[in-house]
Parts: sequence; C-alpha cells; structure tokens
Amino acid sequence: MTATTPALRDANDGAPLAVTSAARILIVEDDFAIASNLHAFLSLKGFDVDAAYSGQAALHRCSVERFDVILLDLGLPGLDGLTFLRRLRDELRAATPVLVISARSDLADKLAGFAHGADDYLTKPFALAEVEARVRALLNRSGAGSVVDPVLRFGTLELDRERGEVRVADSVVRLTPKAAQLLELLLRRPGQLVRRAAIEAALWPDAQPQADALRSQIHSLRKALAEHGFDGIETVHGIGLRLVARARDGA
Ligand code: CA
Repeated sequence: MTATTPALRDANDGAPLAVTSAARILIVEDDFAIASNLHAFLSLKGFDVDAAYSGQAALHRCSVERFDVILLDLGLPGLDGLTFLRRLRDELRAATPVLVISARSDLADKLAGFAHGADDYLTKPFALAEVEARVRALLNRSGAGSVVDPVLRFGTLELDRERGEVRVADSVVRLTPKAAQLLELLLRRPGQLVRRAAIEAALWPDAQPQADALRSQIHSLRKALAEHGFDGIETVHGIGLRLVARARDGA
C-alpha cells in the first residue's frame, strides 16, 4: 500500500510534492536469510521496511517508533516472540497489527499466538506473495496509511503532511519536492542513520540518479533549514545522513 500524502506544494511552481508515506513494516526475525529475503521483497513492493533480530530490540523499536504492521517470528533469542507480543500489547499498549510467521504449525501454537494478541498467523515455509497479501489485508483492516499522524516532528522541525508545510519553530520553510521527500525520510527515523542508497531509491525510484543529484538535494535542504536556524542534518561520510539534536535548535 502506498498512500500518497496530499498537498505539499513546491515553493517554485506550485506543483504538488510527491511525498509518499509507505506503510511501515517491522520484521522481527533472528534468521538473517529469512529477514533479508522478506526485507528485499517487501521493499520492492513499496513498503518502508525495517528489521529487528531479537525480541528485546523489537520492543525497544516499538517503544520509540510507530509501525503499521509487525511480522513476528516466535523462536527468538532472549525475549521470545510470544513474550514480545504480550508486552507490546500490555506494556506499550500498541494495537499494531501483528502477523506471526513461525515454523510452529500445531494448532496449540497458533492458538497461543492469537491468545497473546496476534492478528494473523502464517507457517513456515511460506510464499512471499502470501505474506504480501496478508500484510495488505491487515493494513486495509486497520486503516493504516489513511489514519496516520500527519505531522512528523524533530525538535523545532515539523513536517505537516496534511497542510503541506515544513516548519522550523513555526516559521514555514520552502522546499523543493525532492528536498521535502528527503526530509520526510530523515524525520521518519530521527537520530538514526538513513543510508544514501535507501534515499536514492526512494527519491528516484525509476531511475539511476545522477552522481550529484542527491548531494545537491542535501545542499538545498540544509540551506533552506539553516536559514530558519535548524542545522541538525549530519552527514556520515560515504554512508548516509541522520537527524541529530544540536544545542541551537533545542531538539
Ligand atoms: Ca527464529
């Protein structure tokens, strides 16, 4: 599901900005081959995909970020899948749809999964197409993609996807469509490194970007934000970008 956010306007020509808000999926799976297979497939289908390799890491991610669907393995090191699920529901009070994907195929295991708060259950081995179909069904049922907080925030910086505005400390910042899209990618993962390759794939999905295209968008975004006093975009050389709190923007 690719929900296109409405109405961000280009500062230059008034054309709508193509800022997409793909549904966010968290894969919780300790088998790297399975996790990367799911990751590659679902990314290709246009989802915004992340992975955690333990229940503890997944619980932490869910305590600081919001996902639209969680794909959950049960046999995990440390905090197992069922415990993660119970704590997700009881402690974090998160209603995020959870699709259990497990080799445990007994009826008792499936029932335990549902009893702990699963929304759906798929047994391994599975077909990727079926994972996609189940994910889409869960998204449709939960209304994710349409009911999302339209405002992404980091310190004094806000991107309001409903009003089509980027603001720093309440003053409106004019951005090009690509720069706004880049900013959204960073705002979705505050403090975390967002890789160049992922940014390029999101900004230029249909084409190999020209060598300096991303650099020029980064420059334009930084310049526009700096004019409003925000300088929290950090380059990790050769790897990517992240949003960081700096004293002057009070983030
Ligand atoms: Ca496992």
